[in-house]
Amino acid sequence: MSGIIQLLPDHVANQIAAGEVVQRPASVVKELLENAVDAGATEIRLVVKDAGKTLIQVIDNGIGMGQEDALACFQRHATSKIRKAEDLFDLHTKGFRGEALASIAAIAHVELRTRRSDDELGIKLQVEGGKFGELQQDVLPEGTSFSVKNLFFNIPARRNFLKSDTVELRHVLDEFQRVAFTHPEIAFYMHHNNSEVYHLPESNLRQRIVGIMGGRTNEKLVPIQEDTAIAGIRGFIGKPEFSKKSRGEQFFFVNDRFIRNGYLHHAVMAAYEGLLKEGFQPSYFIYLEVPAASIDINIHPTKTEVKFDDEQSLYAILRSAVKHSLGQFSVSASLDFERQPELDTPYDYHRKTSESPGIEVDEAFNPFASAGNMSLSPSATSSAPKTRTSSYLPKTETASWESLYVGLAQEEPSEPIASAMEFESEVKPLSLFEEKNTVSKTYQLHRKYIVNPIKSGMVIVDQQRAHQRVLYEQFLAGMTVHQASSQQLLFPLQLFFQPVEMACLEEMLPSLQSAGFGFSGFESDHVIIEGIPVSMTESETPIVLESLIADMGEGFGNSFSQNDRIAQSMAKSVAVKTGTLLSETEQQELVNALFACKEPMVSPFGKPTCITLSVEDIDKKFAL
Ligand code: ADP
Ligand code: MG
Repeated sequence: MSGIIQLLPDHVANQIAAGEVVQRPASVVKELLENAVDAGATEIRLVVKDAGKTLIQVIDNGIGMGQEDALACFQRHATSKIRKAEDLFDLHTKGFRGEALASIAAIAHVELRTRRSDDELGIKLQVEGGKFGELQQDVLPEGTSFSVKNLFFNIPARRNFLKSDTVELRHVLDEFQRVAFTHPEIAFYMHHNNSEVYHLPESNLRQRIVGIMGGRTNEKLVPIQEDTAIAGIRGFIGKPEFSKKSRGEQFFFVNDRFIRNGYLHHAVMAAYEGLLKEGFQPSYFIYLEVPAASIDINIHPTKTEVKFDDEQSLYAILRSAVKHSLGQFSVSASLDFERQPELDTPYDYHRKTSESPGIEVDEAFNPFASAGNMSLSPSATSSAPKTRTSSYLPKTETASWESLYVGLAQEEPSEPIASAMEFESEVKPLSLFEEKNTVSKTYQLHRKYIVNPIKSGMVIVDQQRAHQRVLYEQFLAGMTVHQASSQQLLFPLQLFFQPVEMACLEEMLPSLQSAGFGFSGFESDHVIIEGIPVSMTESETPIVLESLIADMGEGFGNSFSQNDRIAQSMAKSVAVKTGTLLSETEQQELVNALFACKEPMVSPFGKPTCITLSVEDIDKKFAL
């Protein structure tokens, strides 16, 4: 009886290999771009349609291929880059496995057009699902163009598994960036659905980073450089004050290859220790140069994980290099370690250059009129003047009482801090003074809980979660009925974002508008904001949007609708935080608003907002 084991036909083997190499359109982009770099191109153009689901084309002006190579490049384990096993230890090219094109051709419609500089005519060849078309000669420009259409056309399960265009485009942009970051000497252009997303002419490293990250990146960067026998380190790190809540801007490259490495990330974070606000992440663009033989980049098919011979020394060198740069450019000196995050100068003040705040504190003047939202104080003198909070309550009770708490998050420093903006700290003494006469119904415990006596005992409310719930329902209601009220900003706010972030914002645009955001400009690298939801302040806007982008990217509460997720994220950013002192009126307003909610008992993240303690419960404790 003959055996049952058979060799798989080539096209099946290729399809299986493709599963490893090609997970999504971005994988194809990475392979094609890397091949173009390896081909010595000085100009590379990426054209993408529908986030790569319909078309991915990479056009280069590199060495091109002759007839034989044009056919051979689609064979598995066909590569011009290594010849023998030892070559693996001295790699200077991006590719070497010789399986990318074979894999891609197995699961898509591929067209190759290529011409070497010495050849008069170029070659056209189509491969569909591993089947070769006829090889044709044609008049073609020098270099190579691969176009990949209908990815996964023969593996419906994979195709269905692809995410939305926004998500897939984000991956494509990531891959494009990673290659462009490492080759400033090559011009890169990218087009998506007929519009140019990136235009990166040949430049130096710093210009390239700025070209990719956009906006005001230049002013945020500090160079880093160190040369040792183990590794050469160069690149740029972000000044701590520009750190962000998301980890989007952290890049390691080893021998011009993007890698992920938690251990080295830790080294960088260790160097920033004490310089960052909690939960904030610095940017970094760090290029390591190590002897090719001292690393193993073969351990992962997409080659983003690298093993170093001497990781511990590298850790120490990297940490000290980052520390050195931070110290040398005296970035740390200007930082106040003790300050509270909520007291930081709002982002927009960093970004605005010459505008003065436009607020002068006048003791005789009612300060609340200008606190929180500078442009919004119509009711400052109209409603009940007894307590400071009611002095800027909007006319209709339910409209937006939350703004009280929102402003408060910045108004109440737990310790007096000199750097707080004047109008923020001026508010405090008066409010304390006025509260002396109020009859106490609620009590704030540890700036965290609000204790309320009720008939049967007491309710203890978690202030942060409660406010999240209130804001969440408010945002959601605004978005679903498209009636959220918006406050006009005195000066439109210009905020810069990366293309990836802009794409994310664009996808959220309708929801953001119905939540109360008004955009007067939506460019490729920035937005101009004219109006914001009433329960936010201008200074919170950048953080709210950044957190939104980060949260949406991380698939935050994935099973929810987009509106839901946006409302969750905004509520999280804007809600009054644990540690914030609340006046009595504010405490009561918050508790009332909580119990007016549809689902008062849980936060938008499913955590309890309050607990009750009955008199019997208390009696029991005393009976012991
Ligand atoms: P690898 O890059 O690992 O060698 P690939 O399957 O990506 O494997 O490519 C196979 C071969 O095809 C490469 O080694 C190279 O010789 C050739 N090739 C691929 N893309 C290009 C290009 N854009 N220009 C010139 N030659 C190319
Ligand atoms: Mg390759």
